[in-house]
Amino acid sequence: MTYLVVATKNPGKLREIREILGSVVGLLSLADFPGVGDIVEDGRTFEANAIKKALAVAYHTGHVSLADDSGLEVDALDGTPGVYSARFAGERATDEQNNRKLLRLLENIPDEQRTARFRCVIAVGAPDGSVQTAQGAAEGRILRDPRGTGGFGYDPLFLVSGERRTFAELPPEEKNRLSHRGKALQSAFPLLSRFI
Ligand code: IMP
Repeated sequence: MTYLVVATKNPGKLREIREILGSVVGLLSLADFPGVGDIVEDGRTFEANAIKKALAVAYHTGHVSLADDSGLEVDALDGTPGVYSARFAGERATDEQNNRKLLRLLENIPDEQRTARFRCVIAVGAPDGSVQTAQGAAEGRILRDPRGTGGFGYDPLFLVSGERRTFAELPPEEKNRLSHRGKALQSAFPLLSRFI
């Protein structure tokens, strides 16, 4: 069986990637390669960060690697937190701290201006230095209070367009069908086919 190394330490992302790709290809994660140190995400775009992570892990492990870089763009905040979504409230911020900061900044923003989207870029990199990317986005709105216990990150605050439930209220297969990551992974299938 061919193995792909998923270049993430985020358990929420890893779980969703496993739900979508786990039956198609063998998946390893960075937990299987403790020698791969932290990869600094200093790119200014999701694409730059995803490519950097995928190639660093492919070089280190000798396996094809799949990396996800993703985040939330809030229109009333000029597209932030964007690539800084994971560390919005500080370098080691928890999801709760990030969510609280987001709610505070949007306190005086009326409902119709609370539009936002999640974006995801998936990069598939090989040890020979070749790399390709696929993208996905999910439009929605930021609520005033968290709802739901599923998912991770900003999910309890994100009401996805066309739904009455937040990402955290949707069963995993429904989130995967609508989410930025689910869509990017569907687009990445053709990129993976040359390796499996
Ligand atoms: P990255 O590791 O720089 O790609 O960090 C992505 C960050 O964006 C996560 O830590 C979350 O805060 C946020 N994020 C990305 N995808 C999702 C999602 O599906 N739900 C909720 N938050 C997400």
